[in-house]
Amino acid sequence: MKGKAWGENHDEKSEAPVLKLFRSCLSTGGSYPMKKPPYYVTDARHFLDERGLTPDNIPGPAKKFSLFLGQIMEEASLKPPGDNIETSVKCRQKPGRKPCPGKILAHRETKESPILWKCTHCGAGGEIHKWQGTQWDNSMETVH
Ligand SMILES: [Zn+2]
Repeated sequence: MKGKAWGENHDEKSEAPVLKLFRSCLSTGGSYPMKKPPYYVTDARHFLDERGLTPDNIPGPAKKFSLFLGQIMEEASLKPPGDNIETSVKCRQKPGRKPCPGKILAHRETKESPILWKCTHCGAGGEIHKWQGTQWDNSMETVH
């Protein structure tokens, strides 16, 4: 008679929030049906360690995702609130396993608002909260 399988080693105590986020992105974005594009609600501070920097010890795909959002924040924060911004960021989705040809549009209502973003092509999108004051916040430099 076998004992219970306690062999699985769950080491989640030191998991960074970005990894959890990344995992949830994988589960929604990995092979989602065409009909429902993913929507990512993110908090910019989850991509930063306690020094306010991007952690080095995260997997490549998670890092790419944080760079993707970082680029959106940088470009969106450069423009005044209320503008619709066409960023230079390309969509990362692969609906039907083909890379999406869309570009990312961004928008923020006011200085305090989250940055909303959306793909021009597949409809994937999301919102980035608490981006103000992060390393990606360029809005200070444009005020004046
Ligand atoms: Zn797209």
